[in-house]
Amino acid sequence: MEKIIIVTGGSRGIGAATAYLAAQRGYAVAVNYIHNHEAATKIVNNIKHSGGKAIAAAADISLEADAIALFNQVDEQLGKVTALVNNAGILEQQMRVENMDAARLNRIFAVNVTGVFLCAREAIKRMSTKHGGTGGVIVNLSSAAARLGSPGEYVDYAASKGAVDTMTIGLAREVANEGIRVNGVRPGFIDTDIHASGGESNRLERIKDSIPMKRGGQAEEVAKAILWLLSSEASYTTGSFIDVAGGR
Ligand code: NAP
Repeated sequence: MEKIIIVTGGSRGIGAATAYLAAQRGYAVAVNYIHNHEAATKIVNNIKHSGGKAIAAAADISLEADAIALFNQVDEQLGKVTALVNNAGILEQQMRVENMDAARLNRIFAVNVTGVFLCAREAIKRMSTKHGGTGGVIVNLSSAAARLGSPGEYVDYAASKGAVDTMTIGLAREVANEGIRVNGVRPGFIDTDIHASGGESNRLERIKDSIPMKRGGQAEEVAKAILWLLSSEASYTTGSFIDVAGGR
């Protein structure tokens, strides 16, 4: 059976590393992005040059119509999805909770929680044996922040990842008997652009001494955990989490 994967937020960081590794492991890859057409197209072209199959797919996963259109595009151009990596996620400027307004909270929860639910929903409709599918695997990107709470930086983001963890457990149990496994990966401090959107591009440098392994992680190190959970080597693993956080 052909392996077809959707990586949300596949244009940069952990998503891009996952898209490349998935292509190396024989998946046809849909590289979702929201704005960065150039980055997504570059990844698609690189995968194609290496003999793989890939498409770029623009969609704001927090919008229901976009999430539906994303899966329809993949149906038409690659086929029925067999693996979903719910990777797209955002954080905003570091601040204390008393300074957060409703608009910010809604943006964070719309992408990090609603978007994850919408994409999982569309995947289940295609994967579940209850709906005539042949099964599949979902990996949700949570964060060590779900355990640590991110005080003084982004408690909203940490709470959204706590919601992702709870959703992962509940959904895994809900669809366990329908051929679908659902797991989470909780990265720690990984060297990507996301820290710049929090207003501190050199955050890893500041924090690295507090990490037991005394360094930040690389996107590829997270991608390897994701690909393991997607693989048949993880065939009895569902509702579980891998922390990729250097011991933090
Ligand atoms: P990143 O470098 O900031 O990349 C974010 C990706 O998400 C980009 O591809 C971006 O697309 C896409 N995106 C953002 N909003 C979207 C939306 N509404 N719809 C579709 N795509 C959207 O992020 P990252 O650091 O690789 O993080 C990936 C995941 O890991 C996130 O869920 C994050 O919370 C989690 N995580 C990261 C770290 C870390 O230290 N980096 C730690 C723990 C957890 P464009 O390129 O088009 O903007």
